[in-house]
Parts: sequence; structure tokens; C-alpha cells
Amino acid sequence: MKTLLPTSTAGSLPKPSWLAQPETLWSPWKLEGEALTDGKQDALRVSLHEQQQAGVDIVSDGEQTRQHFVTTFIEHLSGVDFENRKTVKIRNRYDASVPTVVGPVSRQKPVFIEDAKFLRQQTDKPIKWALPGPMTMIDTLYDNHYGSREKLAWEFAKILNQEAKELEAAGVDIIQFDEPAFNVFFDDVNDWGIACLERAIEGLKCETAVHICYGYGIKANTDWKKTLGSEWRQYEEVFPKLQQSNIDIISLECHNSRVPIELLELIRGKKVMVGAIDVATDSIETPEEVADTLREALKYVDADKLYPCTNCGMAPLARDVASAKLNALSAGAEMVRNELAQENS
Ligand SMILES: [Zn+2]
Repeated sequence: MKTLLPTSTAGSLPKPSWLAQPETLWSPWKLEGEALTDGKQDALRVSLHEQQQAGVDIVSDGEQTRQHFVTTFIEHLSGVDFENRKTVKIRNRYDASVPTVVGPVSRQKPVFIEDAKFLRQQTDKPIKWALPGPMTMIDTLYDNHYGSREKLAWEFAKILNQEAKELEAAGVDIIQFDEPAFNVFFDDVNDWGIACLERAIEGLKCETAVHICYGYGIKANTDWKKTLGSEWRQYEEVFPKLQQSNIDIISLECHNSRVPIELLELIRGKKVMVGAIDVATDSIETPEEVADTLREALKYVDADKLYPCTNCGMAPLARDVASAKLNALSAGAEMVRNELAQENS
């Protein structure tokens, strides 16, 4: 990466209102059949265009072809029954109706490879592709077959590795695994969660990232955050082991959060995608606010390892809000880039 402080987003971006109900998670599609296939591709083009207009350096598909960052991947696997749904508590926090694992899980065919090839054809910029992490996958399911969270996570890690290798071959530069569950199940993360992630990236030559956040800006998450007290030290539990792992990049929530920024010292040496945009509010950050967050992070992350980013996905936000936030991210990163250039001249 040649640009200093290359910007990116955590993943999802709002969908056009002709494709899916806006500002809604698990929003149902408004099209069907071939019209839906075409509509998803058009939305991907629009999302890419908006990222490029905003000056985002590492672009993505904005997750325009997925209904949800976890369930859409799982829908493509065999061994999972989507008719037979159970209500579970996701991340010990909120109830959701989820599919059931009824037999051995496997990937019969690629899930996102055609979408990734399509994105690759549309741009020369580096592209990042998000996949759900193994632990977050098992937390979004009811298991009626394996009887062990760890066992099921290892199976998903193998499947994710197959998908990741094909994404790499399709020209993806950074493969990111979304693991919000890493902020909740600390013992499991340290016992097998990080090991599963390393299994998922085995043999990859492209860069790899793990995204760990406090969730989308939905009520269940913002209510949970209110219970976490004045200092959010969740990252402290998993950072030491992540620092020792093979993962290249760690993507984190920083702006407006109560995460003590000095915790970044625990992952010194890793590249860090620093969340400088709050996805839980409609108010637009000023470039100066973005720059402030990045300047704070620079005390613990070397400049060549700092990637300005959003706290989480922006799917539930209005399009104009998300777009303004991307502009703020670029402008704030540019301010700090200029400061660094002056220091070095
Ligand atoms: Zn997130």
C-alpha cells in the first residue's frame, strides 16, 4: 500500500431503496429472480462509485448482494436448515430467529466468488472482502448436530478457508473476517477462537483482517453499550493473543466509544483499521473530529500501519448520512496525512 493512511469501511453500506427496505437489518429484497440478480450488481456498481467519489482508498462491494453479513453466507452451505428456525440469543444480547444445523456442514459451491470477480472488473483500487468469522457464525445458529460450539467452529473455519482461497484467486487484496463475538466470549476466543481464525486464513498470500466491534447501531447494541460502564476494556482480553497471531490487520471501534485508546499498545506491530466514524449516530463527524481520533491512535500505531476506517458497517444508516460520513473520513485522513508529511519534511 503506497498511500499513507489508506481509508476503507468496515463493510456494509446502505442499499438503494429500490433494492431493499432502507435503514433495516435483514431487510427483505424488493426484487425477484433475474431482476434481483441484476439489481444487486447495479447496487454494487453504485456503492463502489460512491466510495470512489468519497475518496475511499480500499473499496468493497458495500455488501450489496447480501441480506446480512452472517446469514447470507450460511444460506449457501449444506447441513443448515433455514425452514427449521429457532430463537437464540445473539452475543448474549438479543433474540433472533436463526436457522438450525441439522447435519455435517459443507460448501457445495462458491458463495461470493462471482460477486468478487465482478467488483474486481469494476475498479483498479485495492479491494477488501468481508466474510463472517467462525465464532460469529456459530453464534448466529442453532446447532442440532455437532453438540459442540468448538467443533462446529472448526468446520466453518475449513469452509471459510476454501472460500477465502478462491476470493484471493479472484483478485481480492484483503480478506476480512467479522468477529463481533470476540468482544463477548473471551475464554472461547483465547481457547480456540483465534486458532479457528488462523485455520480460516491458512495458506493465503493476500492480506487478512479481523473486525471486532461493538455492533451495528441498532437498539439492542446501544442498550448493551450503556451497561458497559465508563471504560470498555473488552479488547484487553483478546489483544495479547491476537498480537501473536498470523492475522495482518485488526479492525476496531474507536471513535465515540469508551475504549481506552492506549489498549492499542497491546497489538503494537499489527496494522490497525482505526474506527474513526461512529455508525450509531446520524450526526456527521467533522474532518477535525476524525483527525483527532487518528492522532490519538498514532500514539500507539505506527503511521505506516494505520488504516482510517468506520467503527462498523453502515447498512442501517440513511444513504446521505453514510455518504457524508465517508467524505468526513477522507477529509480527516487527508488532514493527518498532511501533518505527517510536514513533520517529515
Ligand atoms: Zn462491526
